[in-house]
Amino acid sequence: MTEIKSTGLPGVLKTLGSMTAIRDTYLVEQSLLRTLGPILGVLETSLYRVDDGGTILRFLNHSRVSVLTEDGVHRVVERVEEVANDREISKEILDLLENVRMLDRPCSRKAGEDLLICHPLRGGRALQGYFVFRRDREVTPVEEAIISGILEVFSNYYALLDTSQRDQLTGLFNRYSLEINLDRLWNLLLMRMRENVAESDRHRRHTPHTYWLGVLDVDHFKSINDKYGHVIGDEVLIMVARLLEKSFRQSDLLYRFGGEEFVAIIAADDFESASQAFERARNAVEKFSFPQVGHITISGGFSGADYSVLPQEVINRADAALYAAKDAGRNRILHYETLIREGILKETPTGSIDLF
Ligand code: GH3
Ligand code: MG
Ligand code: MG
Repeated sequence: MTEIKSTGLPGVLKTLGSMTAIRDTYLVEQSLLRTLGPILGVLETSLYRVDDGGTILRFLNHSRVSVLTEDGVHRVVERVEEVANDREISKEILDLLENVRMLDRPCSRKAGEDLLICHPLRGGRALQGYFVFRRDREVTPVEEAIISGILEVFSNYYALLDTSQRDQLTGLFNRYSLEINLDRLWNLLLMRMRENVAESDRHRRHTPHTYWLGVLDVDHFKSINDKYGHVIGDEVLIMVARLLEKSFRQSDLLYRFGGEEFVAIIAADDFESASQAFERARNAVEKFSFPQVGHITISGGFSGADYSVLPQEVINRADAALYAAKDAGRNRILHYETLIREGILKETPTGSIDLF
């Protein structure tokens, strides 16, 4: 009756095996959706992620669709979509998620001819999200046990991966995670560029966001360590991390890049708003009175994330702007492309940067 019988235990173990072979949180989410679909006999599966307060952070949708190719052949293609806001979620789904949250157990409800089925995704004690799919029949007790089991392994594994991608002191993403995300971001930029080329201006739904990468560095941090000791120095770093987090949007990405250096990748509509966001961060640190230490400042440099420039080169550019900011007296955040235009920084043919 259901596909679960033909899949059987070896299939499920294979699922878990392939899922846990992946070392990237995003890919492991995709893998979960990709493998649960066939087990449940459905073409579309979704994962909704919530924060500690239960607010939906983003959702991931995996579907297999049959497309007719130019030479008349039906081909099944996989599609993964990630959406970072909850505007596109229907009321039907939102109500179902709320139901699952309140009852803390799987729920289903009629949706036309089908059933919309939702399982909670638990991590530790807290609810981390929801797994949702649509099917023409209820989940059997055997399927129920398998879904819960897989979701539990997934949650535990995800938490483990997440830990390995975070910096232990500040809880921010670490440098390793930055490398993974830069590749992903550049793929996204390339995809958007292609979409824009394909679509005429008239059909463009909205102007795409632009992304900006900033490197931020605490000013004279060595003297804080020297004066107050490493423990206080560590505390300052944790507080700076929290201040930066609060200054940027939740959907922006913040990393601890090195000792007292942070990288922020932010989405903004234009240079003005990107500039304001970095300025907000600088200002937040300047205004804050750190226990014992008092006031400190940060300097930074930022550059536009452009798909035609290698990620490492964008980091280099932001870094060059950071050094120009230090040079100009610290407690300021400068924009690489502006520095080039003003002739303060010079672009070298090799792509590396020379300070005048
Ligand atoms: P500048 O304004 O030019 O950035 O000067 P700075 O003193 O901040 O820069 P410098 O690179 O000379 O010193 C950075 C210091 O950060 C040196 C290092 O001991 C300290 N540091 C690096 N990682 C940690 C950490 O995890 N905890 C603490 N407490 N200190 C750290
Ligand atoms: Mg410093
Ligand atoms: Mg530094």
